[in-house]
Amino acid sequence: MNFSEFIEKYARHPHYQSPVGPVLHARSWQTEAPLRMLLNNLSAEVAENPAELIVYGGTGQAARNPEALKEIIRCLLTLGQDQSLLIQSGKPVGLIRSHPEAPRVLIANSNLVPAWANWDNFEKLRERGLIMYGQMTAGSWIYIGSQGILQGTYETFAECGNKYFNGKTAGKLLVSGGLGGMGGAQPLAATMAGYIFLGVDVDPERIKKRLHTKYIDKMTTSYEEAKNLIQGAGENGKALSVGLVGNIGDVLEMLSKDGLVPDVLTDQTSAHDPLNGYVPAGISLKEALVLRKDDPVAYRQKSLHSMARHVGLMLEMKKRGSVVFDYGNNLREFARQGGEKNAFDYQGFVPEFIRPLFCEGKGPFRWVALSGDPEDILITDDALIEAFPENTHLIRWLREAEKKISCQGLPARICWLGMGEREKAGLIFNDLVKSGKVKAPIVIGRDHLDCGSVASPYRETEGMKDGSDAISDWPLLNLMANTSGGATWVSFHHGGGVGIGYSQHAGMVVVADGSKRAANCLKRVLYNDPAMGIYRHADAGYKEALDNMKRFTL
Ligand code: NAD
Repeated sequence: MNFSEFIEKYARHPHYQSPVGPVLHARSWQTEAPLRMLLNNLSAEVAENPAELIVYGGTGQAARNPEALKEIIRCLLTLGQDQSLLIQSGKPVGLIRSHPEAPRVLIANSNLVPAWANWDNFEKLRERGLIMYGQMTAGSWIYIGSQGILQGTYETFAECGNKYFNGKTAGKLLVSGGLGGMGGAQPLAATMAGYIFLGVDVDPERIKKRLHTKYIDKMTTSYEEAKNLIQGAGENGKALSVGLVGNIGDVLEMLSKDGLVPDVLTDQTSAHDPLNGYVPAGISLKEALVLRKDDPVAYRQKSLHSMARHVGLMLEMKKRGSVVFDYGNNLREFARQGGEKNAFDYQGFVPEFIRPLFCEGKGPFRWVALSGDPEDILITDDALIEAFPENTHLIRWLREAEKKISCQGLPARICWLGMGEREKAGLIFNDLVKSGKVKAPIVIGRDHLDCGSVASPYRETEGMKDGSDAISDWPLLNLMANTSGGATWVSFHHGGGVGIGYSQHAGMVVVADGSKRAANCLKRVLYNDPAMGIYRHADAGYKEALDNMKRFTL
């Protein structure tokens, strides 16, 4: 198939789709894999808005514009084993000489010199076509749809239940805003963890998408109906998820007036971006879309004020007994800027629930079957269950995921694995490819939200024991470690999760194609990457991480 035929079949803007099956279009699996993952990120089943190349997380894009995307595809189709492709904010800018065990693609997205690093400067540069917002896995081509966050969200909600309700979540009400690409995992994660869930989103289309993928049980535009549904579920102790169309600030005010205090309250609206993410109260979604373009300054101001009111209501609910935590969208900081002085009076989810896992090198490990056949994922699930028979938590998760998660784009699985486990899993997958038990190579990667890959003082590195929250040497070391180890593609981004100016983070993806070369790279990368998490937390003085240094003889 020549280039034009390939574009016509898989990449006719805005209709993107990954090739599937065992036949190569590029020159090797090391280049076919990023090509398929890029197109998968943008396919209608996966991306929130393929027409604007937006994958998830507000405006998180996979490529800068359709022309740059076409050029990336052209480069990946012809790239050799002794070359690497350079991507600058979603645009291909050059090829360098490298070698077969080096990364094939080197990606830098959204980076600005620190004193320039704010949304205003970023927007000006973006308008001139010079930069792109890559979020975390959008611009690094390893987004796998809402499942990507599902297990992490499930772990968080379950841990919240353990910490505050002795594990008894039946009948407990969890309320949150935002049912988009990532937030859309909340209803399913909440019901899997036993809660009753009320999710509020201004955009009915987003809730419809969750209904379609069976991530949410019910949808309504009526506050009264939503209230009846959750109260009914509460009476018979049944887990149920309800999506209500509305503005979360308004709904919290109504709940507060009705004396309905959530047991758990959090938020995943795209608050990290006050202009192109969060929708202020008092205007409809349609009006918001117009105002964003017509008067960005007024819009931003409205957004900040709304966030202040939103967080004020969350603090009020906290006083009345809700367990409140920030869910990684920087809502507290923008609420503070909008005038809520006590915005930081509740903690983020990482120090509350996740940091002990980071000390074990654990994080959101994920893999994708390039064959496109869901059967291949079931084969990898079985192989992990056989390899980790003692890990009942993992086995329960995999079996539940098989039952409850429908495919979005290329079949994928996520599962939090740590030091030792990731390397073992990667080599098992490589053997499955080598022996032909799965029909094509397996792509292995992770979110940038991981144990040793991020500096984000309002999220992953909030409240570090030694005060090193804002030091971003760590994600740079992570990038260098994964480049040295021979990941198939690596990335360094700015602003993911919490917005421009607030985070820097690194990503890696490594392909198991069944070869000896792949086994060498997997052994190095899947050792180095979780080890970085242990080093980072040991250096900050966490006892669990220091113990793990000894346990894994690091
Ligand atoms: P998204 O843009 O796909 O979805 C955000 C949703 O919020 C949209 O559906 C939008 O309609 C809705 N919304 C905006 N303002 C609203 C309001 N006032 N009331 C009700 N609904 C409103 O974004 P996403 O991918 O779902 O990510 C959500 C946020 O979570 C982002 O800030 C992202 O950076 C952050 N995030 C968190 C994690 C994590 O692990 N906790 C991971 C990735 C991203």
